[in-house]
Amino acid sequence: MNKLKFEKYYEDLKALDVGDILQDEPLYKHTTYKVGGPAKIFIKVKDIQALRNIIKYCRKHRIRLFVIGRGSNLLFSDKSFDGIIVSLNDYFKQYTINGNVVKAQCGVSMIKLAYECAKVGLSGFEFMGGIPGNIGGGVYMNAGAYKSQLSHVIKKVTILNEHLETVTLTKEQMHFGYRYSILQDQKKWIVLEVEFELETKDVSEITALLDKRKERRMSSQPWNFPCAGSVFRNPVEGSAWKYIDDAGLRGYEIGGAQVSPKHSNFIVNNGYASAKDIHDLIFYVQQIVQEQFGITLKPEVCFINWQD
Ligand SMILES: Cc1cc2nc3c(=O)[nH]c(=O)nc-3n(C[C@H](O)[C@H](O)[C@H](O)COP(=O)(O)OP(=O)(O)OC[C@H]3O[C@@H](n4cnc5c(N)ncnc54)[C@H](O)[C@@H]3O)c2cc1C
Repeated sequence: MNKLKFEKYYEDLKALDVGDILQDEPLYKHTTYKVGGPAKIFIKVKDIQALRNIIKYCRKHRIRLFVIGRGSNLLFSDKSFDGIIVSLNDYFKQYTINGNVVKAQCGVSMIKLAYECAKVGLSGFEFMGGIPGNIGGGVYMNAGAYKSQLSHVIKKVTILNEHLETVTLTKEQMHFGYRYSILQDQKKWIVLEVEFELETKDVSEITALLDKRKERRMSSQPWNFPCAGSVFRNPVEGSAWKYIDDAGLRGYEIGGAQVSPKHSNFIVNNGYASAKDIHDLIFYVQQIVQEQFGITLKPEVCFINWQD
């Protein structure tokens, strides 16, 4: 029954010409954890009007819809995602640099943009040099590192709102905080484009900082294992990694998931982890830290498709 329903949705969406449509697409191909069951329908959306048409279709047929970026902060469950995943990664990759003003669509890679801006002497994105997400996911999370975050350089964010209108919001209207933006509460808003204001600096100074950051990441993070970066937000009382370390959990394993021996706020997939292994390990770590220190570590990773 479900299969037949999705067969019809697939045919209808194909007729609507909304982009490249894949059926039963394994989500492990689209996440940096390399786990996740299949999505019934996965669409590489071709433009804004197509996005509107998909949303209208989903509303009419009560189909679940989820916007994916580079999947570098997501933990999908192992089961089938009975809905539509929309990806803006392939057709929303334009950016322009005009003086010190940079405009980038949501599908632009943060790493690529950091290096392109460095080449022309624009500073402000150096912290992004090792964050493997896109601008859309970066704004959603207010991604950051080394005391910098995306909101420090954002001027405006253009979104598609719940009424399917494109609206440009100021930085203040985005309510940015530590790994927080208003998008985490306005689930129907989709980032389309972001305007940044950067500073001009010497190219060599910017590239030296990018290189230094890269070296630091390579030496302190398990960059060669599938993961989603830091698993927990830092609590106000201190660093998440320190609590995990002090709880004796560095290197702890459940199935193929392991608290990284290199950085204890990273949980890595040793190559054969299921999403459930990773999920169970995250909550085990949370429970032990809570029991030992009375601190509730809050996951930074987003859990998708875990409810029955
Ligand atoms: C090795 C590694 C290192 C990392 N280091 C850091 C770090 O230093 N700092 C840091 O902050 N993060 C880090 N991360 C985590 C991750 O890269 C960031 O959270 C990033 O911002 C996620 O972007 P994404 O495109 O992968 O989004 P996804 O993980 O695909 O999605 C994250 C959320 O954003 C939403 N989203 C995506 N695109 C849009 C859009 N266009 N409109 C509305 N919502 C959207 C999704 O629905 C989802 O809820 C790291 C991850 C890895 C794997």
